Amino acid sequence: MEPANALIWFRKGLRIHDNPALELARRGSRYLFPLFVLDPYYLEPDPSAFSPGSSRAGINRIQFLLESLVDLDSGLRKLGSRLIILKGDPLHVLTSVLKDWKIGKLCFEFDTEPYSQNRDNQIKEIARASGIEVFSPVSHTLFDPAEIIQKNGGKPPLTYQSFVAIAGKPPAPLSLVYNQLPAIGDVAGYELLSIPSIYDLGYKDVEQVFSPFHGGETEALNRLKETLDNKDWVAKFEKPKGDPSAFIKPATTVLSPYLKFGCLSPRYFFQCIDNVYKTAKKHTQPPVSLLGQLLWRDFFYTVGFGTPNFDKMQGNKICKQIPWQEEEQQFLAWRDGMTGYPWIDAIMTQLKKWGWMHHLARHSVACFLTRGDLFVHWEKGRDVFERLLIDSDWAINNGNWLWLSCSSFFYQYHRIYSPISFGKKYDPNGNYVKHFLPVLKDMPKEYIYEPWLAPLSIQRRAKCIIGIDYPHPVVNHDLASKQCRTRMAAAYALNLSSESIGVEEKMKMLR
Ligand code: FAD
Repeated sequence: MEPANALIWFRKGLRIHDNPALELARRGSRYLFPLFVLDPYYLEPDPSAFSPGSSRAGINRIQFLLESLVDLDSGLRKLGSRLIILKGDPLHVLTSVLKDWKIGKLCFEFDTEPYSQNRDNQIKEIARASGIEVFSPVSHTLFDPAEIIQKNGGKPPLTYQSFVAIAGKPPAPLSLVYNQLPAIGDVAGYELLSIPSIYDLGYKDVEQVFSPFHGGETEALNRLKETLDNKDWVAKFEKPKGDPSAFIKPATTVLSPYLKFGCLSPRYFFQCIDNVYKTAKKHTQPPVSLLGQLLWRDFFYTVGFGTPNFDKMQGNKICKQIPWQEEEQQFLAWRDGMTGYPWIDAIMTQLKKWGWMHHLARHSVACFLTRGDLFVHWEKGRDVFERLLIDSDWAINNGNWLWLSCSSFFYQYHRIYSPISFGKKYDPNGNYVKHFLPVLKDMPKEYIYEPWLAPLSIQRRAKCIIGIDYPHPVVNHDLASKQCRTRMAAAYALNLSSESIGVEEKMKMLR
């Protein structure tokens, strides 16, 4: 029998190392078509969006994706291949090329997100109806979430500890090194586009691309190497001890965007950490260790995969029903970094400029928006993160918003981050705030976290008049946090006591 033409459809998994879909596509194939489809829905500028980018993604993440594609193309070219770029609705494009390129084998990495599941199931059906073999291996996560759910009796484990107990050790990464990949075949008259720049996509304000983190497998592996070279740091890593205000050298690896796009294999990352542990006298343990962070990732993937409506409050069985308030002005102040609390506003500015912030910084602003101060729905905060983060990840983002809003996983709603003292503890001089909010750069450190307390003479000297150059606090934290605790207590009581009452009824009682 003639060897089949194979197509590897890249979506995430933008790498050559440890890429089972690529290996399945390569093996025994005559021609190999490595394809990425540019989806205008995801990429086209949306002038009505609140910050530069498309309706789905901020400009930093789009730039990160383009850089990752350039790097993948360059990696493929070194192996005698290249990345084929086409534009359009992925389902339509795939349907056409499967036929036109006489594909016999279609390979793509398994994706757990509901949007992707829906799309992938449709393409699988189309392919199979034409007699095309389809392979969709798991390699975006350490484990196969479906297997974990099956081992747990058909339900996702809902605590980290039970997840870890069931999961065991992940499969080893593939250690193949290629010299050559099969050539791409006849593209049947399709125009092979080059990878567009951000300008080509129609973005004009490209000076808005401020993120210091650049996409691609090469960058990911360099960053990983730098991390691993510091064996002592890896062995002693304890997440809660990191400094969220460290921005010149962040306190964690900043490998999340590379994991998000699959420029870095989580299994390879896991193996590398494990190897460091083998040479260390002592090392930290999950949940706080570096290896434990990767398990958190898989935990949220598994729960997200096995929980209907995981990304919503309503219809989500593991989410407490809470009557969040409609406070559009306060929400906008939070989103735009204008709450009047410099710690919160600096973090939201870092999000907009860099698309990345430390985990505890994310804690601070998520708590502030929801059950800490503003009592705004976690779904609204989730949407802002989803669009702006360069590591924006459906399962992890939703999981953490559920956590931080005390809607699921974590229920100690009385433990609220102070928007004043939490940042001060790490950065008493306010260097982080001054960097991201230059309007406060001359404010003396005594007032940097509470500039509204500065006497007018000091505000004048600092060229920052509160209420004119920088806003007054949007709420009084002491009062607002007290109110939030009371509301959460009432919501929790109803969630416990009135199981028989419908969601809408419950909400009415609390409004
Ligand atoms: P490191 O501490 O170096 O950890 C290594 C890797 O472990 C990370 O790259 C990440 O893949 C994983 N990881 C670390 N912490 C977590 C966690 N709490 N949950 C799941 N996986 C974790 N992370 C995302 O990747 N995408 C998101 O969209 C996202 N949204 C978040 C929203 C909120 C409200 C909060 C509180 C956290 C969110 N996180 C998200 C989790 C976490 O903040 C980031 O993964 C982490 O800060 C990334 O930085 P790092 O790579 O330096 O992490």
